[in-house]
Amino acid sequence: MTAASASLDTSELLRHSHERQLRSEWSRDTLLSFQRSELTSALRHAVDASAYYRETIGGLVARGAPLKDFPVLTKRALMENFDRIVTDPRLSRLQVEQHLSGVDSGSLLLGQYTAVATGGTTGERGVAVFDRAAWLAAIANMVRFQAFVGIDETTRSVAIFASSPVHISYHVGVELRALRPPAPRFNVLMPIEEIVDGLNANQPDVISTYPSFVRVLASEQQAGRLHIRPRLFRTSAETLTQEIRDLAAETWQAVVANSYVCTEAGPMGHECLLGDGLHLAEDSFVFEVVDENDRPVPDGVEGAKLLITTLTNRTLPLVRYEISDIVAMATGPCRCGLPFWRIGSIAGRREERLRFARRGGGTVDVHAHRLRSPLTGAAGVRQFQFVQLPGGLEIVIAVFAEVDAEIVSGAVEQAVRAALNAVDAVPAEVRVRVVDTIERSGAGAKQRLVVASPEGN
Ligand SMILES: [Zn+2]
Repeated sequence: MTAASASLDTSELLRHSHERQLRSEWSRDTLLSFQRSELTSALRHAVDASAYYRETIGGLVARGAPLKDFPVLTKRALMENFDRIVTDPRLSRLQVEQHLSGVDSGSLLLGQYTAVATGGTTGERGVAVFDRAAWLAAIANMVRFQAFVGIDETTRSVAIFASSPVHISYHVGVELRALRPPAPRFNVLMPIEEIVDGLNANQPDVISTYPSFVRVLASEQQAGRLHIRPRLFRTSAETLTQEIRDLAAETWQAVVANSYVCTEAGPMGHECLLGDGLHLAEDSFVFEVVDENDRPVPDGVEGAKLLITTLTNRTLPLVRYEISDIVAMATGPCRCGLPFWRIGSIAGRREERLRFARRGGGTVDVHAHRLRSPLTGAAGVRQFQFVQLPGGLEIVIAVFAEVDAEIVSGAVEQAVRAALNAVDAVPAEVRVRVVDTIERSGAGAKQRLVVASPEGN
């Protein structure tokens, strides 16, 4: 595969980012009225330029129906109707797939489109394209988000993510690198010794990586091999838990700011330094938190999914596109004063729920994140993953070389049993399996929290 180079002009990007940064000064009313007019224009464009939207929402747009009355677009529907959703007739899903699996996957498709793929956590592969204006808006949003946490052209920052040019984090990284001081290239799949040596030599102020990798770096620092003093970790892709924030604070007195990037839509949200929820780019998207039946839920209440409508991508319009993250909107503005509303927390994905028999009858759903704390507390655990068994649970762990795997397994089993017992879950079986390493999966090389039960279990 050929490595991609930055596709955006640096001065144009900085100009756009600056323009977006000025919107941070807007009042909430100004922001919402801008969003409304952008939405009207995006919906009209979708109906004019896309056969799929003309059929599905043409009438609703014509009579000015509220967005909550529009149908929801699932990932499956997006993939099945891709060729009629895109507004450039030269584009097709097959062609995007072929481009992404070709030797030049990092290059621009048709000389103008950034093409990316998703898969990983939900197991269903998807593809997306960004036209030039949409990509410029996406990266300008990210530059603005980073300015919220004090990152500018002089900041020493490194990224440790996946290495594949099909993934959006790779492309975002390439564009951002062009703006920053030169930095070594890392990815999570490199040998840890190489990453530790590189970080010791570079001494970055900011590290962007997966939450699970903050844990790995903290272990290296605590073991005395890593000697860095970052002030900030930026995390994305996996759910960020309080344990990881605490770990970064204890290990480095560092702040963790989470970011929220969606393959199909681009960078959507980022925390400020207060770390109290993700500020959303409401000038580029409309966000709705809804229940299982696509009805809006009030601020502060966890929905079953998040729906997004893109206001910037005129080539791949997304209207009420369903993302399976379980989120709640904040109930009040942030103390930092930004006009952008926040997602209070991302509790995880629907696919990460585990189901057990309940004491006294029935079943109980336990989100895998509820089981993270006992595992984070278990000394010696390097990685972990849950496998739902019919009626039970397998916990797969990888342990550090210097510890006794059997003792660690026993402690893990006991801790998880206690956590399940506390919520009245009574699984028929809880077992621990020790492996050498838990492979990262999918194009994004995320570490999956829950995997489906293998055949025969
Ligand atoms: Zn804030």
